[in-house]
Amino acid sequence: MGCILVCEDERAIREFVVLSLKRAGFQVLEADSGEAALALFDTAKQPVDIALLDVMLPGVDGFTVCRRLRAQDATVGIVMLTARSQEPEKIEGLHSGADDYVTKPFSLNELLARVQALYRRVQVLRDRADERYLEKIQRGDFTLDLRSRTLTAYNRTVDLTQVEYQILEYFFAHPQVCLKREDILRQVWGETYTGDDKVVDVNIRRLRMKTEKDPSNPRHLLTVWGEGYQWED
Ligand code: CA
Repeated sequence: MGCILVCEDERAIREFVVLSLKRAGFQVLEADSGEAALALFDTAKQPVDIALLDVMLPGVDGFTVCRRLRAQDATVGIVMLTARSQEPEKIEGLHSGADDYVTKPFSLNELLARVQALYRRVQVLRDRADERYLEKIQRGDFTLDLRSRTLTAYNRTVDLTQVEYQILEYFFAHPQVCLKREDILRQVWGETYTGDDKVVDVNIRRLRMKTEKDPSNPRHLLTVWGEGYQWED
C-alpha cells in the first residue's frame, strides 16, 4: 500500500482528496502548510511515495516544498495542485522537480488516475534505485563506489576529500536536477552549519578540476545561473 502526502491549506479540498485516496487504498498523511508537509516527510514511518502539493500556501509555498522534497529524494513522485492554468506556473512546477500537475478544479477520477499512474512509475524507479545503490552509481564515464568512497573517471581513480565525495554522491543521486547552494550545504554540512555558502563554490571548483577535461568549460558539473549547480552525464 502506497503512502501519499497531501499538502493543501483549504480544508474542504484536503478532506475530500484525503478521503478519496484512503478509499482507493492508500495510506495518507495530511498537512495544512508547507512547513507541516516538510516535517511529516522527514518523520514518516513509511517512506512517502507521492506528494500532492498545493501551490498557493501560506508561508512556505508549494514550489519550495517541491524543490526541498526533490533534493532529499530523487524518486518520490510529486504532483502539484495548481489553482490557475497559466503556463508559467506549470513550467515553474516542472523546473522545481514536479512529475505532474493537476489544475483546480479537478475531477476526482482524473486525480486518482494520475496518482495511480505515477505510483506505478515511482515503484519501478525505487526498485531500480535499490539495486543500483547497493554498491556503485554509474553516471556516464564516472563511477562512484559507495563502499570504498572512491571515484573512477575515464577509467582512472580520482582521490576525493570526504566533502567532495558527499557532494558528488548528492549530485549522482539527483542527475539533471538543479541543486541550490543551500540544499548542498544542508545535505553535506548539515542543518546547523552557519558558515558562508561560498564553501560550496570552492568545492565545486575543486571537483571540476578532478572531473572535467576542461574545468573552465565544464560539461558535467554545470552552473545554473542564479540558482545553483546541476549534474549532466
Ligand atoms: Ca491553497
